[in-house]
Amino acid sequence: MATRRTLSGVAAWHHGGMQDQPSSFATDASAGQLICSAKGCQQAASYAVVWNNPKVHTPEREKTWLACEQHREWLSSFLDKRGFLLRVDAL
Ligand SMILES: [Zn+2]
Repeated sequence: MATRRTLSGVAAWHHGGMQDQPSSFATDASAGQLICSAKGCQQAASYAVVWNNPKVHTPEREKTWLACEQHREWLSSFLDKRGFLLRVDAL
C-alpha cells in the first residue's frame, strides 16, 4: 500500500468502499496532512473517529474518519446514533 501514512488504518479505509460515509470525501492525499472527512471541510483533522459497522465488518475491523474540532461531535454522533461508534482518538 503506497499511500500509507503515519496514522495506521487511515490509508486502508481510504482504499476501501466508501458507502458508509455520510458525505463526499474531501481529503487531499497529496497535501501530506490529515484533513477532516466532513463534506466541504478543509480543516486539519485533530481527531480520528473510529467505528465499525457490525453488519458489514468483522468485530476487529476498525474504520476511521478524520475530524476537525468543529466536526468531531457531528461525525461521532452520526455514528453513535447507528451504534457504530467505537471511540474518538486525539491525533
Ligand atoms: Zn471539519
